[in-house]
Amino acid sequence: MLLSVVIPVFNEEENILPIYNRLRLVVNKLNIDYEFIFVNDGSSDGSQHKLVELSNKDAHSKYIQLSRNFGHQVAVSAGLDFCKGDKIVLIDADGQDPPEVIEKLYLKSLEGYDVVYAKRLQRKGESRLKKFTARLFYRILNRITQIPIPMDTGDFRIMNKRVVEQLRRMPERHKFLRGQVAWVGFTQTSIDYQRDARVAGNSGYNYRKMIRLAIDAITSFSNFPLKLATLSGFLFAFIGFILICYTLYSRFIIERYEPGWASQMITIIFIGGIQLIGIGIIGEYISRISDNVKKRPLYIIDKTNIS
Ligand code: UDP
Ligand code: MG
Repeated sequence: MLLSVVIPVFNEEENILPIYNRLRLVVNKLNIDYEFIFVNDGSSDGSQHKLVELSNKDAHSKYIQLSRNFGHQVAVSAGLDFCKGDKIVLIDADGQDPPEVIEKLYLKSLEGYDVVYAKRLQRKGESRLKKFTARLFYRILNRITQIPIPMDTGDFRIMNKRVVEQLRRMPERHKFLRGQVAWVGFTQTSIDYQRDARVAGNSGYNYRKMIRLAIDAITSFSNFPLKLATLSGFLFAFIGFILICYTLYSRFIIERYEPGWASQMITIIFIGGIQLIGIGIIGEYISRISDNVKKRPLYIIDKTNIS
């Protein structure tokens, strides 16, 4: 039994050694063969240096250095492409996902589950706004997608090899791994854990990246926004039709009308706005189609010690 642990790293210089040591304790306790795959997602600090040092000391510790910052989901995907384990764990490098929880995940997966994800009961050290937006996001996502994407979970989880093999077959460029794993199916379950505060450094997920992830998640797993555009189009066309009838009625039948400049302007602007929203939503999907037909590689590896 080989356990692969995939750890995306983006400017986590100070967190690498602590997380490594904690992971080591866990795998030693479980008494299994292991590999740690650190994916350096274009860090600009000393992370790469630390990773090379580690891999020189311990042959179980491997690194993949990407040529630039490709984003968390892509970094994890790169790790998944290169891991060889029978079971694969995804974990953050910043200590927010306590490595000690891996033991629970592992034991649960031995009961015969293909995916065991860790559901966070509490999130320490994160702003109210982040917690609130995350909660809201998962609630909306679940409303508008057909597959049940587990609420309040990150990517912290253990998966059997056959799940990862399926993930590798998914060529889409806008990754939302949580959704993809749910989509794969097989037997999945969860355990609860307390999410800790970051040990050191700052979050690499700014709001821009979070919004991108949310839009990727929604467009990858739901066509609801497209339907919404059509629905609102019909609704406003209908209202417009009634307004036209009313205008004609007052102009020709009761012949009581004002030169209605204001109402016209408002209507035009309003309808124009709705149209722009519709076009924007369609644009989001089209940009994804064009990204997918480009078939560029998802990431580029600069250096690695994985053969
Ligand atoms: N990360 C990454 N690329 C990025 C941003 C983050 O590989 O562009 C890594 C980061 O090093 C960490 C994990 O993804 O191991 C989670 O990121 P972070 O802690 O910044 O996100 P948060 O926990 O604040 O949502
Ligand atoms: Mg974090």
